[in-house]
Amino acid sequence: MISLALQHLKTNFGYDSFRPGQTQIIDNVLNNNDTLVIMPTGGGKSLCYQIPALCMEGTTLVISPLISLMKDQVDMLVSSGISAAYINSSLSYEEVQNVMYGVQSGKIKLLYIAPERLENERFCNELAQINVPLLAIDEAHCISQWGHDFRPSYRSIQQLLHLWDKKPTVIALTATATEEVSADIQQLLSIEKENTFITGFARENLSFSVLLGENKEAYIKKYVKANENEAGIIYAATRKSVESVYEMLNKAGFSAGKYHGGMFEEDRTYEQNRFLNDEVQIMVATNAFGMGINKTNVRYVLHYNMPRNMESYYQEAGRAGRDGLDSECILLYSSSDEQTQRFLIDQAQDRSRIPFELQKLHAMIDYCHTERCLQSYIIEYFGDEAGQDCGRCANCTDNRPQLDVTTDAQKVLSCIVRMGQKFGKQLTASVLAGSRSKKVLEFNFQKLPTYGILRAMNAKEIANFIEFLISEKLIVVNNGQFPTLSISDSGKEVLLGQKKVLRKEARIIESTVEPNDP
Ligand code: ADP
Repeated sequence: MISLALQHLKTNFGYDSFRPGQTQIIDNVLNNNDTLVIMPTGGGKSLCYQIPALCMEGTTLVISPLISLMKDQVDMLVSSGISAAYINSSLSYEEVQNVMYGVQSGKIKLLYIAPERLENERFCNELAQINVPLLAIDEAHCISQWGHDFRPSYRSIQQLLHLWDKKPTVIALTATATEEVSADIQQLLSIEKENTFITGFARENLSFSVLLGENKEAYIKKYVKANENEAGIIYAATRKSVESVYEMLNKAGFSAGKYHGGMFEEDRTYEQNRFLNDEVQIMVATNAFGMGINKTNVRYVLHYNMPRNMESYYQEAGRAGRDGLDSECILLYSSSDEQTQRFLIDQAQDRSRIPFELQKLHAMIDYCHTERCLQSYIIEYFGDEAGQDCGRCANCTDNRPQLDVTTDAQKVLSCIVRMGQKFGKQLTASVLAGSRSKKVLEFNFQKLPTYGILRAMNAKEIANFIEFLISEKLIVVNNGQFPTLSISDSGKEVLLGQKKVLRKEARIIESTVEPNDP
């Protein structure tokens, strides 16, 4: 079977070999095992169902949520000599009927549909008449309410599984599923755990860095100047900050485009095309930009703000270097980013999602403070095996000596215990810094023996140190109405002097002025 797959790979797509993971996945699908694929954007998920579709009798049904992506995929397949079609809300009734005739006559190998179609009973009755050997579910995390993009229409897929006498083989694909989300997909689509493939998260041409406490605007100007001839994307968290970075760059004489949800569609398309056609090198955008954009020569992705979770970060950062050439992904962190994201999460309609969103946010904050290999952190977050450290990221190449900070860590941990493990990071930092703020005095914390015990640092440095201890899993953040800190079991070992804490020597930053954040 796999030799037939290879033949299709060569004749239809012009590639000589499968990427790591693709062979096992395709083999598993061709053996009629329902399969879950977790592979990052650009990893090569599409071939994992397109090749089996060509090897199987009948029409493979592909559920895909994005109209623009659907069209691109179908155009690409048709240009490779494969008969494919799509049905979504952009088609007229007659066009839909024409596609369905093609499908019924057995001519179409791949039919892409939007999930909303499945809510139409008549359409499902028509589907029931055709031979569907394989059901591919793209962006499968949309089926899970714990995913970052839950779509209720995806739930109709479950009924689809029972539409035919012979159940089609199922392949669900996503770029971003945490353990929780993948367990949910497995359960909702009855996929066995052993048929789950997590692969390809390492991107060997990307080097990651996180910069704390930089003057973001000055940094961006300097970076963009040094990379003047390269294409890059700068992501910001809000429309307002996109506008301000965009203005700053244009005022400084750089030609940048902008893209966010508050612009007219016409203007967005215009700006997007200028970037795709290399008329502007820099695109300043919110996360609204990038879905389905296949610009391969993006040399850097800068994040002006920390995104709300690792899923979004890796998806956005992963738009760099799709051509395989070395590219940089730099995240400029400031503590106000955390507040912005907390505020945005708090706006959620569905209150029950908030604890999950906060948990994801904490993993993102940990990423910004860890001193471990950043690539390994990402790979492990997505459940893939990290293997060796990347040797390229800012942490791997950072050769500042490590200092023994066990005593300072003990001071922080002890302060948290003395405050009853009921307060958050900012107040703990204020107590350790010896602040006489209203809140400190209100709780009488100036009387604690740990009050002012880290006076040599300012409250911001202490807050960063606390974040570092959280990323080392010595402190746990508990989500309630307000996030509170408590001590983990390893934290207790540190307090008892059974475990050491090492941290890189403080970095000297040229300027620590914070720009106006959103
Ligand atoms: P994803 O859906 O995971 O984001 P795609 O399926 O769009 O990724 O694949 C990304 C790119 O990699 C595409 O240009 C695709 O043609 C290419 N690709 C996929 N598999 C292979 C392969 N085995 N050999 C060479 N290129 C491949």
